[in-house]
Amino acid sequence: MITAKTLKLSLKSLRDFAKKQLPDEKLIELDEKDECPIDIVRQMCDPDKIGIQLLLVPEDCGGMGGGAFDNYLVCEEMARIDLGIATTVFATFLGSDPITVGATPEQKKRWLGRIAEEGLIFAYGATEPDAGSDLGALRTTADRVIEDGKIVGYKINGAKQWISNGGIAGAYTILANTPAGPSWFVVEAGAKGFAHDEPEDKHGIRLSNTAALALSDVYVDADRLIGGVEGQGLLQAQAVFGYTRVMVAAFGLGAGWSALDRAIPYSTKRIQAGAPLSEKQGYTHKLIVPNVVRLEAARSYLEETAEGLDSGKPTGSLNTEGAIAKYMATEAGNAAADASIQALGGYGYTHEYMVEKIKRDVRITTIYEGTSEIMEMTISRDRWQLHLKTRGQHYHDQAKKFEDLHARHPNVGADNAALALHALAEVMEKSRIGRLTRYQHILLRLGELIAYAECAGSLARRAALMAENKLNEKANRRFDATALAALSRIFARDAALKVAEEGLRYVVGAGGVSDAELPTFEASIGLPAIHRAQAGLISDMDYAADVLYGRAAKRELAAA
Ligand SMILES: Cc1cc2nc3c(=O)[nH]c(=O)nc-3n(C[C@H](O)[C@H](O)[C@H](O)COP(=O)(O)OP(=O)(O)OC[C@H]3O[C@@H](n4cnc5c(N)ncnc54)[C@H](O)[C@@H]3O)c2cc1C
Repeated sequence: MITAKTLKLSLKSLRDFAKKQLPDEKLIELDEKDECPIDIVRQMCDPDKIGIQLLLVPEDCGGMGGGAFDNYLVCEEMARIDLGIATTVFATFLGSDPITVGATPEQKKRWLGRIAEEGLIFAYGATEPDAGSDLGALRTTADRVIEDGKIVGYKINGAKQWISNGGIAGAYTILANTPAGPSWFVVEAGAKGFAHDEPEDKHGIRLSNTAALALSDVYVDADRLIGGVEGQGLLQAQAVFGYTRVMVAAFGLGAGWSALDRAIPYSTKRIQAGAPLSEKQGYTHKLIVPNVVRLEAARSYLEETAEGLDSGKPTGSLNTEGAIAKYMATEAGNAAADASIQALGGYGYTHEYMVEKIKRDVRITTIYEGTSEIMEMTISRDRWQLHLKTRGQHYHDQAKKFEDLHARHPNVGADNAALALHALAEVMEKSRIGRLTRYQHILLRLGELIAYAECAGSLARRAALMAENKLNEKANRRFDATALAALSRIFARDAALKVAEEGLRYVVGAGGVSDAELPTFEASIGLPAIHRAQAGLISDMDYAADVLYGRAAKRELAAA
């Protein structure tokens, strides 16, 4: 258990270290050279220097036993420094996750202990040339080696693709098919028959080493089979999705904010048409405010999911929440970085101003650890079951909770979150009646609408907790209660409009309502009320911009 104070100190030393060792010029140089700064990574993982990995290794294995919330904060901070380096450190945890969830106590002590003591770098070898999103297509094999009727080891053969740390790791977890099904094995660098390719020449995260692996009759002793039982590999991979998706979600947040934190100060100094860009509504309300709102909605969901994981819920039970957090935060991070290039105009398009590098880097977050489309499918399939089980009441019930919240906190956007959730319930019910999820496009678009509606609820809940001063002490406090409530109102309006208008479009587009039924369906999803709820949008955006540019306090003072 890490206290808020210890965590704060660790993050500060990480920040100070990065400031000294990784100034912008150095990052640009490494990005151009396409090189992983392995010495710097080793210092970050050296227990006598930064020892960042200690935060995340369990206490009984020599670490500090951080939980999912700590993970999220470390990952966000790392991503703000550089997403390539963050990926290098993250890959060690991804690589060791099958050990954390599935290994025997001896295996845990041995491998996690080495991560804590030596800063051992791990890699996670799941993906193959023909098995990406669909790991069921796995072809790597692990054949039993039997002596005197006993399994003494395995011979592994196959190929792995796009492996982070592939060319620099000291140890690898490799997913391979045993006679009893997919299983994880630990393979050490230098094992006979084990080789890696040259690093890939990538679009972004060029400070992270990504390489293909080749395994040809690589022998490992039986004690390298994680957990000692064959066939547990996919279950073990599933069991950590909640955690790993939270970590990548934090990458999206960190990178998105890192870009905006360059665009915001830039816009206060850049004078066009006689005034700073920060004074121009057409600029702030398009390029800055909506991106801040989306990032903070995603943060809220991420924080709730991390709290859920830390509260001891069964492993794997928050995989869908992890998927929503990852989907929303990484898509928001991408959009924020892209808008930041626009916000810096021609300067944004050059290397020197960094936002174009951040944009290239953050692009990976919607691809690795499950693509956005796979997240949409995961979210939709899971919540569809809830819809069926509750005979269509699941999201209506959720909406009622937000109507109650609105009665207690009328300013946090809970009323509009409720509108979004009611509309979602109606769109899903119409999809059920028309059997519209037989169209994969509709299934995946529902995933997106579900993510938006749930995030709207989450941000409203979080804004209310903030107002009651009940947020956990590690939670992000960049915005105070009044500002968070304004961001929540903006997001909830967007979410309600998106669910209703896009939901209507998909249902009509898939033939789910006839012309005659259309007016009744429009009323059932609350479209007129959702349109009316857009009142106040511009003044909330004005307020959000004032907060971001430090003008809110001055205006309040002047008004007083
Ligand atoms: C820089 C980098 C680092 C990586 N690091 C690692 C690592 O350390 N370890 C590791 O094991 N892997 C790693 N990966 C692999 C990564 O997880 C995969 O690239 C990812 O899972 C997608 O698989 P794929 O590339 O084969 O794409 P595909 O699965 O072929 O997908 C291609 C496109 O099709 C879509 N798609 C796929 N299936 C469906 C479907 N059923 N319905 C609709 N659309 C679909 C996808 O969303 C995507 O848009 C890394 C990848 C990169 C690029």
